[in-house]
Amino acid sequence: MAAFTAKRLEAVRKALAANNFEAHVAADAAAAAELVLTQLIPETGAGSVSFGGSGTVAALGLVSALLDNPDYAVLNTTDKSLAPAKMYELRRKALLVDCFLTGTNAVTEAGQLVNLDMIGNRVGAMHFGPRHVIVLAGRNKIVPGVAEGTSRIRQFAAPANAMRLDKKTPCVKTSFCQDCNSPERICNVWTITEKSYPPGRIKVVLIDQDLGI
Ligand code: SF4
Repeated sequence: MAAFTAKRLEAVRKALAANNFEAHVAADAAAAAELVLTQLIPETGAGSVSFGGSGTVAALGLVSALLDNPDYAVLNTTDKSLAPAKMYELRRKALLVDCFLTGTNAVTEAGQLVNLDMIGNRVGAMHFGPRHVIVLAGRNKIVPGVAEGTSRIRQFAAPANAMRLDKKTPCVKTSFCQDCNSPERICNVWTITEKSYPPGRIKVVLIDQDLGI
């Protein structure tokens, strides 16, 4: 299994690189965190950082590590104690940080990113605003193509995330997406990122471990 996933991740890394992403493979979550903290962020020269909602970023301990580092101004959009109005403003400001860290809902074998957002701040920042974006993706996010990615998201990731976020949506009761009209619907903005523009702006770290939803 380890040899299989290592080869598959290397193939996806090459596909991402051919699409102008800066692409890396890390052996596990700890190696990915070290890569991000000691190499990828310092190479950007970033002074400010922020985050998209991501179980993978949380699992790597990146938020606390950056908050503990006085070299960075951290716009902590993961702070759930913030009042909604303050969080809204922080998310707006996060669109202009030097380096934005996030997960992705799926990575195709052709080297594309597929995402579905509730608010749009995560995919907005992925595509314009922050000078650099670092995307962390566990091996469980790899899918053959865009169709399988959208299916994975709609059938699995979105209902599971709605449960994680304790939303009042039909999928939380049934586990199945019902294309709801709920006020708390988390499925509002689809994006397919075919290439990084400018080249290298989006850096993808593929991690040989199951992480996130
Ligand atoms: S559209 Fe509604 S029911 Fe479907 S996954 Fe999203 S929140 Fe759940």
